[in-house]
Amino acid sequence: MSIKTFNLFRRFQPWFVLFLKKYNIKGGTFDQHFLIDTGYLDRIVAAAELSPQDTVLEIGAGIGNLTERLTRRAKKVIAVELDPALISVLHDRFDTVENIEIIEGDALKVRFPEFDKVVSNLPYSISSEITFKLLHHKFKLGILMYQYEFAARMVSPPGCKDYSRLTVDTYYFADASILMKVPKGAFQPAPEVDSAVVKLVPRPAPFEVRDEAFFLEFVAAVFSQRRKKLRNSILNTNYMLKIPDVKEVVNQLPEGFMSKRAENLTPEELACVANMIFDLKSR
Ligand code: SAM
Repeated sequence: MSIKTFNLFRRFQPWFVLFLKKYNIKGGTFDQHFLIDTGYLDRIVAAAELSPQDTVLEIGAGIGNLTERLTRRAKKVIAVELDPALISVLHDRFDTVENIEIIEGDALKVRFPEFDKVVSNLPYSISSEITFKLLHHKFKLGILMYQYEFAARMVSPPGCKDYSRLTVDTYYFADASILMKVPKGAFQPAPEVDSAVVKLVPRPAPFEVRDEAFFLEFVAAVFSQRRKKLRNSILNTNYMLKIPDVKEVVNQLPEGFMSKRAENLTPEELACVANMIFDLKSR
């Protein structure tokens, strides 16, 4: 066997494939694409910089390939999984392991116990909802796998095609950066898209907002019309914003902002406009 073949064999651990066969798991439903490349599994766990004091949350534990590595380094792992078939696999694998709690259910609905870090290869169809559910919890670090395009939108600078509501909302809650791109071939079954691992470090917002709910609604509204100038996007989406006397309010806002598109304003500038509107409508 050549070194190259040996390395390939080592990284893809054929027992994962046998394991999927044994439990008759085909994947595909519920975003089931299992990360079987041990090189990436190890890099994800290393990025989490786990200490024996850390409680780690894992969303979508699947067959437990990431879970098993986490249990070896953390104080406790809370593994959430939706699919009853995979829950059975997790119990088979981990019922003799002391530092794991397995929670069966939809991660969007279950109540998360307290955790320090979240490390997950997420189900991509709930990327946005689960990220913002997580960001409403207090935790130190997230190492999260997303579809590559989604990750690119999370970290885009203003003025680029990926700059979006997701970018601004993410930046409001956390520092986000892409740690690595992960190719389709690292998964079994392979997804149709490339993936990326994102590092999320929650922190207080780097700018002041008068009212968080209004700011987030404002961002959603103006990015729903991202190609329109701010003046028109506010007027067109007032069914969301519910600003009394909206035309009068818009006329009092600085032209420098009103003549630009949402996609060309920084999160700080968007917060500034949202604050001005909030103050005007609260008078
Ligand atoms: N952690 C495994 C890995 O890295 O190979 C599996 C990751 S796979 C991309 C996503 C996992 O999330 C699947 O096991 C799937 O059953 C589970 N899942 C999908 N939707 C879910 C939800 N709403 N709540 C909890 N788990 C979910």
